[in-house]
Amino acid sequence: MVNFFPIKINKTEEGKSLSIKWNDEKVTEVTLQKLRDECPCVNCKGESVMFESYIPLKSPFKPAGFYEIEKIEPVGNYAIQIYWKDGHNLGIYSWDILREL
Ligand SMILES: [Zn+2]
Repeated sequence: MVNFFPIKINKTEEGKSLSIKWNDEKVTEVTLQKLRDECPCVNCKGESVMFESYIPLKSPFKPAGFYEIEKIEPVGNYAIQIYWKDGHNLGIYSWDILREL
């Protein structure tokens, strides 16, 4: 049971972080770089298949827009989906993940 959820998500002034205000008055801030590096999608984070874990190699090459957000869309009432400017949009960030970052 999730008992917290964001009531406001804003880009900070310099545009390098997201500031998240939660329903319990807590405010957390996470850099876009961290958000992207921690993208929870299978392509970025890997997955476990039959006890074998697959972890993708991190490329040192970052395409333009890698750490820039195009838009954010809500997913149901439990997560947001972040569209990055390099075209990546598979990451669904649940409230749990956002809160931990
Ligand atoms: Zn991803």
